[in-house]
Amino acid sequence: MGVTAGLVLPAWLTACSDDASGPEVKYDGVVGIVGAGAAGLAVADYLISKGIRVKIFEASGRIGGRIKAIKPSDPIFNELAADFHVELGADRIFGTNSEFGNLIKLLKVPTVKFREEPTSAQDYYIINGEYFSQAEAEARVDFQALKAFKETGLATYTGGGSVQNAAGASTDMQGILNSWLGNAYGSSSDRIGANALGEALAMIEHDKKEFMLVTNPISDVLTSKYAKALKRVTLNTAVKAVNYSDAGIVRLTLLDTVANTESTVEVTKLVVTSPVNVLKDSSLISFSPALPASKTNALSHIGMDASIRIILEFTRNNFFKKPDGTGPAPAFIYGGEVCPSYFFPGVGRSDKNLTVSVTINGPKAQEYSDLLGPEPDATTGEPYPELVVNAILDEILSEMDVVFDGKASLNIRKRFEDGTIISVIKDWTKVPYILGGQSYPLVGGTNEDRVALAEPIDNKIFFAGEATDFTGEFGTISGALKSGERAAEEVVAAILAENES
Ligand SMILES: Cc1cc2nc3c(=O)[nH]c(=O)nc-3n(C[C@H](O)[C@H](O)[C@H](O)COP(=O)(O)OP(=O)(O)OC[C@H]3O[C@@H](n4cnc5c(N)ncnc54)[C@H](O)[C@@H]3O)c2cc1C
Repeated sequence: MGVTAGLVLPAWLTACSDDASGPEVKYDGVVGIVGAGAAGLAVADYLISKGIRVKIFEASGRIGGRIKAIKPSDPIFNELAADFHVELGADRIFGTNSEFGNLIKLLKVPTVKFREEPTSAQDYYIINGEYFSQAEAEARVDFQALKAFKETGLATYTGGGSVQNAAGASTDMQGILNSWLGNAYGSSSDRIGANALGEALAMIEHDKKEFMLVTNPISDVLTSKYAKALKRVTLNTAVKAVNYSDAGIVRLTLLDTVANTESTVEVTKLVVTSPVNVLKDSSLISFSPALPASKTNALSHIGMDASIRIILEFTRNNFFKKPDGTGPAPAFIYGGEVCPSYFFPGVGRSDKNLTVSVTINGPKAQEYSDLLGPEPDATTGEPYPELVVNAILDEILSEMDVVFDGKASLNIRKRFEDGTIISVIKDWTKVPYILGGQSYPLVGGTNEDRVALAEPIDNKIFFAGEATDFTGEFGTISGALKSGERAAEEVVAAILAENES
């Protein structure tokens, strides 16, 4: 079970290539899969390779879940200075030898490790309203202490409480702490449980190097690798109710999310990949019999918070460098109170590199999400209210202006015609059947919660999705893929056991 990180390709990748799909497993039933994100597609791919029939039900009108980019075919792309796909969800790959890293190597997709040559971009920091280069921050004793906590201390920490309690960071370092060990894991540092996050970090086996795809959106990797699975997806179809009370059959109530009509279908086994905020809401997906206490208890220890991605562009970018526009290009700016993570996705992908990708998770994202109201309506083209958008952009630019002497507001890209700021806002909190950013451990949680969430019920209902990864990689694409493979292996093991009995 599980996949060993390392340079040797996991068996399932090679087993799933077009010319090596066996050994097949005899099975007359149909396995239903809830969700066509990374996890659901990985489950389907594995089962198809074993000759098992699958049906994937996807509530939304697209595949990929939390993987979604602005592509050249999208109208907004023409307005952007970016000459690369702009990711609105997952944008970086963690670990060159991680599950997803290995898949990218296998498919030979061009990549850039933006903190290494030739780009050699570096991180910058906001500390007390001042701007620090990596070297300047490294010279501070409190920064060194926080870095040591992040890199080694947290993994061995056993004292309980939140990451913020555990870090014991100086007041000056609270912003960077929140960027590194709060926002980066889907929330804020005072909400994330220190023990479980430390436990997870200690389990990670890949090299933790961060990189991006240069020429392709991340979804290309999914559509290319999982081409066979895509044919089995029914879009705009939510699984609303799961009745597994009778032997050998799982009855599903399906909701057509466009027509708002219901229908029923029967499968013989079901793999559920719904994110935790969906699993917690029985009006979205209900189970009969109800989920066992072990799962509801596990879910009560796993959080999933609001998450917003905002894309901004500038007409110049040298003011982000230190000193006075001559330092290395920025990869990230960490430490902001309004925005804990400013990322430059053009590094190594664009000569212009004028795009800034802001990710806000946790309470601040919830505040913005509440202000923004419902998602813009794709059918009517109704955008977010202009006043609210302006208030949010103003707050972000004000934070940048403090450290850049007003140059952020001065150089923000605006529409020529009306002088409005060109921006893209993706509020994951509002995406139906996703409802947030990524799962994270609440205070008091442990890795056992993930194990319990992943546990199959009656060899009929199986669970995958990033939140069910118990190898330390929850909240990532690799974690989602590994969970999918694990659940698919459990399905095959159950079928083989039934075939033998
Ligand atoms: C802003 C943001 C930035 C991120 N950055 C990174 C990053 O840089 N690197 C990284 O590795 N990871 C990142 N992640 C996390 C990564 O995107 C996720 O961990 C991963 O994509 C989750 O895949 P999944 O298949 O588990 O879930 P999802 O992608 O959420 O897929 C679940 C699917 O199931 C569908 N669904 C749910 N319930 C039902 C139902 N009842 N019926 C039918 N369909 C249903 C949903 O519509 C969805 O399509 C980021 C996430 C966000 C939000």
